[in-house]
Amino acid sequence: MTENTKLIQGRTGPWEVVLGLEIHAQVASNAKLFSGAAVGFGAGPNAQVSLVDAAMPGMLPVINRRCVEQAVRTGLGLKAQINLTSTFDRKNYFYPDLPQGYQISQFKDPVVGEGEVLVELDDGETITVRIERLHLEQDAGKSLHDQDPDSTYVDLNRAGTALMEIVSRPDMRSAPEAAAYVKKVRTILVYLGTCDGDMEKGNLRADVNVSVCRPGAYEKFRATGDFSHLGTRCEIKNVNSYRYIQQAIEYEARRQIEILEDGGKIDQETRLFDPGKGETRSMRSKEEAHDYRYFPDPDLLPLVLDEAWVEAIRLSLPELPDPKKARLQAEYGLSAYDAGVLVGEQARADFFEAAAKGRDAKLVANWVTNDLAARLTAANLDIEDSPISAGEISDLVKLIEDGVISSKIAKDVFERMWAGEGAPAEIVEKQGLTQVSDTGELEAIIDGLIAGNPAQAESVKDKPQAIGWFVGQVMKATGGKANPGTVNQLLKAKLGL
Ligand code: ADP
Ligand code: MG
Repeated sequence: MTENTKLIQGRTGPWEVVLGLEIHAQVASNAKLFSGAAVGFGAGPNAQVSLVDAAMPGMLPVINRRCVEQAVRTGLGLKAQINLTSTFDRKNYFYPDLPQGYQISQFKDPVVGEGEVLVELDDGETITVRIERLHLEQDAGKSLHDQDPDSTYVDLNRAGTALMEIVSRPDMRSAPEAAAYVKKVRTILVYLGTCDGDMEKGNLRADVNVSVCRPGAYEKFRATGDFSHLGTRCEIKNVNSYRYIQQAIEYEARRQIEILEDGGKIDQETRLFDPGKGETRSMRSKEEAHDYRYFPDPDLLPLVLDEAWVEAIRLSLPELPDPKKARLQAEYGLSAYDAGVLVGEQARADFFEAAAKGRDAKLVANWVTNDLAARLTAANLDIEDSPISAGEISDLVKLIEDGVISSKIAKDVFERMWAGEGAPAEIVEKQGLTQVSDTGELEAIIDGLIAGNPAQAESVKDKPQAIGWFVGQVMKATGGKANPGTVNQLLKAKLGL
């Protein structure tokens, strides 16, 4: 734990940051949590609102089995406890985009309890972030302030959409750790098919809780579970990009340290991140915090799950990123890094496995994670839409393995494949790119070079590294097509090395 922690130097000494996240993930489902209205992005205003969502008098909520299944599936993917009995509560507050006057949420007894997420950091270190709970709740509608100078409009399309709130323990200790955690949770949800993970549309967003303390205090908290060892936290609402999460944390930690070093104290409050300014600002303090007057929703019975149903969902889980990564390392001899990059997206790992069949897997991994990934990113394409198929990458690697083309020429072939010039073998044929392994042809070139450069040939005897110059010349003469292995062999023989 401690080695990971980034100390922040203040005026009066070092500080540590403590972070706990609440991730809101929109459940992938065609219908809302308690009504049959459609869920979707881009429909006209108030086109997806049922009488239940609009809170018409006498309307009753009916739980959507699919949404419950998705929450359970997510809980299982987070290695969490599934609570066979959970309850729905009303969280009361007034807001124009909340027609009911309350949000149906799970307060006391959530559907999912404690779990954990393994998070890999950029430096190869791994941390475990504990999950406190996951509960189901309704999303609110949207107030539109920019449609008319004098009025606010309300769009209830989102009202009643199912959200999963995933609450972590305060187990993250730096901005990059928090971003890596969100990234990992997102990957797991996308693998599970329980949330589309689209952060730009706000389908996955995080409330970030930040506090600071002196070195050693966090250790005491972990040893005792006593929160009084920690600093007072501020909660930054609804941050929806990895970059903003990091900027918000860095700004907020600094702000708190400055207050404390000036002898002040931190007010527990809710803050907003302003991406334009890179700052957080106060939204409401704890004193102004809502008293939500939670109570069990009398319209809804407790949610009781059948254990066999939960087990059936467990059996239907796909191979998740962690086990997939371990398998790719074991089965294909990949490095932890390469395997990690490949499993970052299920489709990328699938593509790799399709291309690697019967091939040098490390070579295939290089093509998929470097050249192809770079091209796809630049073209803003998903790997599912790659113009180069897994079979074609496999064919390209086979040409290298068979010595038909060099790795260098392969780059050229790859660019032509990307440009749609055809299959790799076709391109090699058409462009005359076949590697020159013909000893006679190469010998003639080498003889000419040695005869024309006697001084260089002499110097190689004392300085064997100087052979590189000759290799370069042969490559030049053959347009890069000479087989480097053959060239080296011939040069050594002819130069008497
Ligand atoms: P609230 O309803 O006030 O948001 P929750 O229990 O839903 O409370 O979430 C609290 C979040 O704050 C959790 O993710 C928790 O880990 C985190 N947290 C609690 N105390 C601290 C602290 N001192 N510093 C940082 N994060 C904290
Ligand atoms: Mg909360």
